[in-house]
Amino acid sequence: MRILKFGGSSVADAGQLKNVSAIVKTYISRSPDLVMVVSAQSGVTDDLVKLCSIIPIDFSACEPILTHIAQRHVATLKELLPALQQPAALAEVLSLCKELNDIAKGASLVGEVTARTRDLILSFGERLSAFCVSAVFKLEIPNIHFADARNLIRTDETFGYAKVNFTETNKRVQEYFAANKGLQVVTGFIASSESGQTTTLGRSGSDYTAAILGAALTAEAIEIWTDVDGVMTADPRFVQEAQHIEQLSYSEAMELSHFGAKVIFPATMQPAMVKSIPIWVKNTFNPTFKGTLICDTTGADNGFVKGITSLKTLRLDTPMKKCRLQPKTELK
Ligand code: ADP
Ligand code: ASP
Ligand code: MG
Repeated sequence: MRILKFGGSSVADAGQLKNVSAIVKTYISRSPDLVMVVSAQSGVTDDLVKLCSIIPIDFSACEPILTHIAQRHVATLKELLPALQQPAALAEVLSLCKELNDIAKGASLVGEVTARTRDLILSFGERLSAFCVSAVFKLEIPNIHFADARNLIRTDETFGYAKVNFTETNKRVQEYFAANKGLQVVTGFIASSESGQTTTLGRSGSDYTAAILGAALTAEAIEIWTDVDGVMTADPRFVQEAQHIEQLSYSEAMELSHFGAKVIFPATMQPAMVKSIPIWVKNTFNPTFKGTLICDTTGADNGFVKGITSLKTLRLDTPMKKCRLQPKTELK
């Protein structure tokens, strides 16, 4: 069993889904034992975040955002599905968009978006995206199914950054995969609490979904498919000379991601490390490139610094009074 997670840029539109389909088919030809974890189409979660901030102010300003989200998914389906298959899939997308619209309208009437409602609103990105992937891939992979991670991953109700109940989650995941065969397309990022509330695992949390499933199923590998050649020595958006890193230990990867390497969500390493499951970071746009291996050992680095990260918009806001140095005696 392998877990393949595809990030937002990998599933951004019809063109990108063709790349992903080619990758998935190559894997299936080798072994059908696969799970796909899918993020929202790139930019959709940001749009939903914006929607949440606008809802209490001016519902009419929400309408272009809602329309844009619906149009992106409708366009993906129209481009990739034959006419006969379109009505059922489009009806599902439009029904999800109507549900989103109703929730946004309801929140605007109340005049606030609570943390709980915000998570529910954000969940639509992954639900729409994973549904589209499963509908489109079904043409060539008949034994493929959409799986809503809210039925698999149990968390507390720390909305926005929910904590996973691993005992309950592992049981649910194992039972589900024992009873449901075929390629499952699972929504990244989202989960649910014991009382059935929708929760999210933190921004960029789809990587974590992949690791949670991978650990529960004792997968042979977890693959994070993204838009760069792996973990690099620096963020390639800012440093043109950034080099690809061949291998990192779990703790090195955790440290880099904690301090700004957005390419992998920090918590991802934890479930994988417990079961020593290798994580590969690979490039959807350069699929034959080997990528970065994250595992128990650090690789041949000769003790050199592995990478440099940076964090933007960060401020340490400590009142001067509290910053005062303690008397020397207390410093001992
Ligand atoms: P996805 O949508 O596939 O989850 P992300 O945008 O979350 O992708 O992560 C990939 C991005 O992470 C890259 O496009 C890159 O700009 C950024 N990034 C930041 N630091 C690093 C790094 N050290 N190595 C690789 N990518 C990095
Ligand atoms: N769609 C979510 C986000 O943008 C989760 C993810 O992409 O990993 O934060
Ligand atoms: Mg990401």
